[in-house]
Amino acid sequence: MRFEFDEDRAEYESQQQRVRAWSEFWVAEHMYCPACGSASLSKHRNNRPAADFYCAACAEEFELKAKNGRFGARIVNGAYATLLERLAADDNPSLMLLGYNLSRLAVERVIVVPRYFFTPAIVEARPPLRPPARRAGWAGCNILLAEIPAYGRIDVVIDGAAVPRDTVLERWRRTAFLRDEKMPSRGWLIEVLRCVEKINQSEFSLSDVYAFEGELQAVFPDNNNVRPKIRQQLQRLRDSGVLEFLGDGSYRLIEK
Ligand SMILES: [Zn+2]
Repeated sequence: MRFEFDEDRAEYESQQQRVRAWSEFWVAEHMYCPACGSASLSKHRNNRPAADFYCAACAEEFELKAKNGRFGARIVNGAYATLLERLAADDNPSLMLLGYNLSRLAVERVIVVPRYFFTPAIVEARPPLRPPARRAGWAGCNILLAEIPAYGRIDVVIDGAAVPRDTVLERWRRTAFLRDEKMPSRGWLIEVLRCVEKINQSEFSLSDVYAFEGELQAVFPDNNNVRPKIRQQLQRLRDSGVLEFLGDGSYRLIEK
């Protein structure tokens, strides 16, 4: 039994390695830098723990996650503690998700998420591994993809068709106002943006956003001025070209 198990595992691991090699080849051949438009990305030669590719022109780094089929609400990531440390130090890479069809060996979906959309609120701890796992006690984590604002999930390939490069670059550029924000102010902007998206109307009112007061209070338990914070974020989102103010407490999301 033991021997069979190990054989299965070896087969699984070798398939994973083949898929990995093939995905990396695809990125090296076809992917440009979504941050600056440079024609190609370079593979890190050394075995860096998270970053797989980087842009030689703008130094943006990317972690590649490849999956057969569609991406669900969660993306399996590495060690929980390591990711939280990286977020606290602001040195996590941007994420590149590559969805392939294994039977056709075709890439059907590519999504990039700029690194500054990663906050502790979108990381979910997985239960620690238990004996007899080789790494018993080790705790991994999931990235809650569905919790990242749609603004920060930038499509590069949809249903096997490339999104025009200019559209991708423009969408990345429009997120750049978050790049130099530190936590927790970046977290506030992202959370309020997420609330605005959840309203799911191009025009909305201040009271529509206030409806999320309890939810925001839960994310920021130490803050006792949630409504003023909401108004402040809406102003900052307006200044960054995400919203426009229509007057009388009405707002409009500027179309992408
Ligand atoms: Zn670049």
